[in-house]
Amino acid sequence: MKTADLHMHTNHSDGTLNPVELARLAKYQNLDAIALTDHDTVTGLAELVEEVNKLGIEAIPGVELSANFFPGTLHILGYGFDPQGPIRQKLEQFQKSRAERNPQLLEKLKTLGMPLTLEEVQKLSGAKNQIGRPHIAKAMEIKGYVASYEEAFDKYLTKGGPAYIRKAGLTAKECIDLIHESGGVAVIAHPIQMKLQKMELQEKLKELVDMGMDGLEVIHPDHSPENQEFFIRLADELGLLPTGGSDFHGDHKPSVQLGQGRPPYAYLEALRGRMKQWQGTN
Ligand code: AMP
Ligand code: ZN
Ligand code: FE
Ligand code: FE
Repeated sequence: MKTADLHMHTNHSDGTLNPVELARLAKYQNLDAIALTDHDTVTGLAELVEEVNKLGIEAIPGVELSANFFPGTLHILGYGFDPQGPIRQKLEQFQKSRAERNPQLLEKLKTLGMPLTLEEVQKLSGAKNQIGRPHIAKAMEIKGYVASYEEAFDKYLTKGGPAYIRKAGLTAKECIDLIHESGGVAVIAHPIQMKLQKMELQEKLKELVDMGMDGLEVIHPDHSPENQEFFIRLADELGLLPTGGSDFHGDHKPSVQLGQGRPPYAYLEALRGRMKQWQGTN
């Protein structure tokens, strides 16, 4: 069966492989298509496309945006948009707000007795482009402030933790509109992470459908087989296109393999139909 992994990160956000290494690993894992979905950036795309073209794999432009949400997190994946469209300027703004947030975060760590400079974080984590909490967690581990990456999050960096600083975010509607305006389709990532009970989740997803949401990520390493079955049924009921991906981050999440869950290529074909629909109206 042909497979398409539609969720993965490179060192342009918080993954550890560069785009060329990621493309080669995708070939090794026998994937037919991949979508790079770095957080808040598309800077890795050009390099990836060049390499996949040599390898005979398809690549779809993607991105992962964070929407303001409570109690859990709401990440929205965008696919098939024009990387030079309106999304580009917005992503540049996100980089700026990250650049403002990081020193604040490091200041908090300093008052907690764990001084780290931005340069150290960059060097220790191997960050290439944007710096986020995962890079800081890695640096804290290497410095010996915490025993593990997980401990850095659990004790300090997690949402609401003593070293947490909110990221200036968009509403879900703004994320969807931004993706649509650039000719792409919008998909809810790992719905399990919204941390809602079944009934609440159903209600929230309905609201998102009314805002124009196109799809729901049903295959994800955080989803149990029961979750997956439930999400597939929900997607079908709500008219959302099912998608899937490994959310591969390289060594930052060593338990996850690229291609994990083997999402069917048919999911991508259905998404493509929707992309054309949008592109036809733009
Ligand atoms: P940031 O964009 O800087 O807020 O960092 C978000 C990233 O941090 C997510 O994409 C995850 O990879 C990682 N992350 C967030 N919360 C946790 C957690 N509790 N444990 C481990 N990793 C986390
Ligand atoms: Zn990530
Ligand atoms: Fe995510
Ligand atoms: Fe992700």
